[in-house]
Amino acid sequence: MKAFKLVKWGQPGQYLEVPKPSPGPGDVLIRMKAAGLCRSDLDMVDSQPGSGPYADSLEENYILGHENAGYVAEVGSAVRDLQVGEAVVVHHMRHCGNCEYCTDGAEHHCEAYRRNAISATRGCGVDGGLAEYLLAPRTEVISIGRGDPVMYAPLTDAAVTAYHAVQTVIQRLKPGTSAVLIGIGGLGTYGVQFVKLLSSAQIIAVDVAQDRLEIAKQVGADHVILSDHTDAGPAAKQVMSLTRGRGADAIVDFVGSSSTLKLAAKISRPRGRVVLVGMQGGTLEVGWGLIGTNCEFAISLGSTRQDLREVCSLMGQGKLRVDVQRFSFDEVQKGYDELRAGNLAGRAVVVF
Ligand code: NAD
Ligand code: ZN
Repeated sequence: MKAFKLVKWGQPGQYLEVPKPSPGPGDVLIRMKAAGLCRSDLDMVDSQPGSGPYADSLEENYILGHENAGYVAEVGSAVRDLQVGEAVVVHHMRHCGNCEYCTDGAEHHCEAYRRNAISATRGCGVDGGLAEYLLAPRTEVISIGRGDPVMYAPLTDAAVTAYHAVQTVIQRLKPGTSAVLIGIGGLGTYGVQFVKLLSSAQIIAVDVAQDRLEIAKQVGADHVILSDHTDAGPAAKQVMSLTRGRGADAIVDFVGSSSTLKLAAKISRPRGRVVLVGMQGGTLEVGWGLIGTNCEFAISLGSTRQDLREVCSLMGQGKLRVDVQRFSFDEVQKGYDELRAGNLAGRAVVVF
């Protein structure tokens, strides 16, 4: 079968002919219908040995694609609850089911797949879905009923990662509180939707791009703030004004640059919570200004299968807006180029 592989660190992916996998007893063979392209694929492709987590932690030579959806093509002899032809999505974070993290409800930290700084996941160190077929254990596959795989593919990373992050602050978002979401891109657009669906907090969206703020409004932001890459001051003032001096009860930073971290620290209400998702590699000055807020700084990594089930359920109820830009399987590189250039209006999805 044809597959799009990362063959060497630091080089663009390549189309190669690879053997079609066949399912073991507990596996499902999926005929790929849709694979979302993600910014982290670009980080993998760009990775130079000695310079970052991917090349230093994972073995190269794997099929890219970690937002995967398609139709069951074949099931192993032990799989009795999925039918051939059924539409499914795949949760890309792998789990052993036995380690302390897996049994403690944090399977996304599974020790069996930990590789130095990161985990080997489907499409990241382990064969992913940019191929005609994808093989996955039954335990990683979730049925989406009559759902359209093209619309569900972006849910499996972009949406579910945002969902997991929002879950870590949702208890705080009681009526009368404010949530600030920074960076309304692939992930943040879902972040706004989840806060809207799951709370009655005032939602303030921050971005450096006006068009992203327009989308933020459309998906539920009560207020939007146009920020800039270096000076967090004016955006902080606007948040303080919109919250009548109270500050934000919860902040989710989908950027993670020095300026967004500074903004988060400035606008947190005393004992507020800042959750960091973005990986732009910023640094934060820890002085009296920050300590004085007594705020919680947390990191949210990935998601669990239960998160994905819940996100698919919201989608099935018609409660999520998903914007996709379609590319054919021959246009994977074009999709990545458009993503890199920032030209996409929605998630790039390769449709087979
Ligand atoms: P994206 O490029 O689609 O969106 C980023 C958004 O942030 C854009 O709208 C951009 O205009 C905005 N932005 C950039 N600089 C800004 C600034 N200084 N202030 C305000 N807004 C700014 O990216 P994405 O796919 O949404 O991913 C977001 C981040 O999340 C990336 O760093 C990615 O690597 C990371 N990520 C983290 C996890 C995790 O588990 N923690 C998983 C997937 C992705
Ligand atoms: Zn485990």
